[in-house]
Amino acid sequence: MDISVVVPVYNEDESLPELCAWIGKVMLAHSFSYEVILVDDGSSDGSWKVIENLNSTNPQIKGIKFRRNYGKSAALNEGFQVTQGDVVITMDADLQDSPDEIPGLYDMIRKQGFDLVSGWKKVRHDPSLSKNIPSKFFNWTTSRMSGVKLHDHNCGLKAYRREVIKSIEVYGEMHRFIPVIAKWAGFKKIGEKVVEHRKRKYGVTKFGLERFINGFLDLISIMFVSRFGKKPMHLFGLLGSIIFFLGFIIAGYLTYARFFMAGYRMTDRPIFYFGLLAMVIGTQLFMTGFLAEMVSRNSPDRNHYLVEKKLL
Ligand code: UDP
Ligand code: MG
Repeated sequence: MDISVVVPVYNEDESLPELCAWIGKVMLAHSFSYEVILVDDGSSDGSWKVIENLNSTNPQIKGIKFRRNYGKSAALNEGFQVTQGDVVITMDADLQDSPDEIPGLYDMIRKQGFDLVSGWKKVRHDPSLSKNIPSKFFNWTTSRMSGVKLHDHNCGLKAYRREVIKSIEVYGEMHRFIPVIAKWAGFKKIGEKVVEHRKRKYGVTKFGLERFINGFLDLISIMFVSRFGKKPMHLFGLLGSIIFFLGFIIAGYLTYARFFMAGYRMTDRPIFYFGLLAMVIGTQLFMTGFLAEMVSRNSPDRNHYLVEKKLL
């Protein structure tokens, strides 16, 4: 099979028939063999009914239904598990992403050898104050911090070589960072393609402003986990030691002054409190490191590596 299209669906019943018809038309025009996997993320409208109808008229349209709303990442991850295509395309259900982009994305993966191609909504049809401006800042920070230089990390329209999505796991709200996760899994050829973006035709957006706060917290977590997840002591131990040592020097100096400098009262010096605090915090960081080590030693994937090639 050439292409699997994975679509997360949360209350998008009005858009689905149009979306599937459009995808089918594009696939037919380029004679791709394909499947569309609609993952109903616990919709409360008629989305699942629509998916059942679409499936009964065209078995290439498949559906998975969650019992409740788990979020876009969960929907994508579940869809990824069952894909059979050589190239996997993700797109939003709301018709903001155009299926006409599929052949171009497919070629970049198959002919130009990209592992992952992310869409770039260069001209965006969303409210500028609540989406476009915060989004620019988000993308800039994510690119700087992760080293994956993309203009539009969170674009719903992306294409992957099959191996990529079978090797990574998307959880929590990490769908914003799939290119970052892929890069850290060792998939280096990550590209970008300017794609057409359209106004939401039906329904409403599912993400409010809180996504920026959550997004930044997730970015910090993912940076930490990828760098120190398997060796937490290297971070906490170092920080803890430095801070403790600083406190120890201060305490040593104050003790010396107490005994050898006349009329000296060490609790009158503000630095006394700083030294005390530094020793306490330093010890705590060190202990945190030990605890984190114990957690990571017990992780079932502590020895999980992605092997690219073997000559045995
Ligand atoms: N979505 C989902 N689960 C959720 C929220 C959203 O599957 O909990 C889907 C939604 O149906 C859509 C895609 O994720 O297909 C992107 O959502 P939306 O269009 O609301 O985001 P926006 O384009 O406004 O950033
Ligand atoms: Mg949308």
